[in-house]
Amino acid sequence: MRATLIYGAGDVRVEEVPDPVLREPTDAIVRVVRSCICGSDLWPYGAREATSMGDRIGHEFLGVVEETGRDVSGLQAGDLVVAPFVWADNTCDFCREGLQTSCRHGGMWARDGVDGGQGEAVRVPQAQGTLVKLPVGEDSALLPSLLALSDVYPTGHHCAVTAGVNARTTVTVIGDGAVGLSAVLAAKRLGAERIILMGRHKDRTDLGREFGATDVVAERGAEGVERVLELTDGDGTHTVLECVGLKPAIETAFAVVRNGGTVSRVGAPQYPDVPADFGVFFRNITLTGGVAPARAYIDELLPDVLEGRVQPGKVFDRTVTLDQVPDGYRAMADRSALKVLIQP
Ligand SMILES: [Zn+2]
Repeated sequence: MRATLIYGAGDVRVEEVPDPVLREPTDAIVRVVRSCICGSDLWPYGAREATSMGDRIGHEFLGVVEETGRDVSGLQAGDLVVAPFVWADNTCDFCREGLQTSCRHGGMWARDGVDGGQGEAVRVPQAQGTLVKLPVGEDSALLPSLLALSDVYPTGHHCAVTAGVNARTTVTVIGDGAVGLSAVLAAKRLGAERIILMGRHKDRTDLGREFGATDVVAERGAEGVERVLELTDGDGTHTVLECVGLKPAIETAFAVVRNGGTVSRVGAPQYPDVPADFGVFFRNITLTGGVAPARAYIDELLPDVLEGRVQPGKVFDRTVTLDQVPDGYRAMADRSALKVLIQP
């Protein structure tokens, strides 16, 4: 089969690799119907050291089950399924607590002999716990939004949930990338009535308005902070959802959160230090967020997607074939595409 490999910064190739086969009785083989490129794939794409072997890449996909191991129940050949961006048994103590990202028997795609999602097929470990069956066919118009359940939409949802967003909280979302826009959609779904979106790409913030943003602040830094404070009688918002920013984003987050409020950050933050000084302490600010246990949220988020009440798949603004995946990476890296869908 063909799959995507990353050889180094700016060097992504689609090559022949061995067909996946069942190794463990808990495995399944899934033929990929849709996959996509994640903003977090751009970190190795931007900075990885060159290697001679190349590594598999991709962690978001949906597809059709082709074969299951003897210990897999509840799934059979022909089922359309979506995979969360971390695989997990869904039965251990962490999984039962809704933290499948800490599963005692789970792991990441495209590591340690596990396939990546950006290919024609994937061996899925812990298939019964990992895969979620979708009650539609592989020709469904809902596929982009169902694929968003793999990572980007649950990550935005996790940001809103950990921040405590509800009908009584005002919200600032920092970032107009696919995660930020998903956080807007999630905050709206959780009942927030005031959602301020900070972002400077008009086509993206327009989608943010469609997803539920009530205000857009295009300014950044001190000017952006001032604009949010103006919009909130000088107090800031109860919750701030920091979506995959660099250090200035977390600084902005602390500056626009209301006293007693919560800052949540998701999506592989690229800064090691959080500027939580005595001022933050005296203002009683909570910092939360983290990697999203997507598997924990899919069952809850799926019905709204199936019934068309939310369309998180609108974040995909370009579709490529597997052979065009290198173009897809370039388009996301130079920001001419928001999020790229792959149709193998
Ligand atoms: Zn587990």
